[in-house]
Amino acid sequence: MRLDTVDAGLLQSRYRLTKQRAAVLRALDKGGHLSAETIHERVRVDLPGVSLGTIYRTLDILREIGLVQAFSFAGSAARYEAALDKHHHLLCLECRSLENVQAEGLARIAQEVAERAGYADVDYALTIVGVCTACGRARAKAEDNGSSSMAGLSSSSGGSSV
Ligand SMILES: [Zn+2]
Ligand SMILES: [Zn+2]
Repeated sequence: MRLDTVDAGLLQSRYRLTKQRAAVLRALDKGGHLSAETIHERVRVDLPGVSLGTIYRTLDILREIGLVQAFSFAGSAARYEAALDKHHHLLCLECRSLENVQAEGLARIAQEVAERAGYADVDYALTIVGVCTACGRARAKAEDNGSSSMAGLSSSSGGSSV
């Protein structure tokens, strides 16, 4: 379920992108939902002098232009992605991975609910939380190891805590 991400090269011809903006978009190109710190690390490979403050300012501008979207859940630090489409998120509460998803029919529901309350300029975002497939599998495995304690002795000394 992949959504189109922003093509930094293409955009460079369409917008006047500064070096920093292009570098931030390139950093996000390799995979979305990154913290500003991670983006900073990646950008510094190309632009060693760039500060974290500049990264934040650049992200703000890119958000205003509509090239970058930010995601934050329950007060956690924002994570950024270069995505143009409206989308929603599945968040794994164990590994904190984020997956982009569409939620058909949600636009209509949001509109109806908001209109009933007399709201205009409606926007909405859905975050579905749970445990991802990988973490679910790891959890099942850990439980398996726990019940067959003999087998667990040799392999899982590092054990997971729940
Ligand atoms: Zn997970
Ligand atoms: Zn996303």
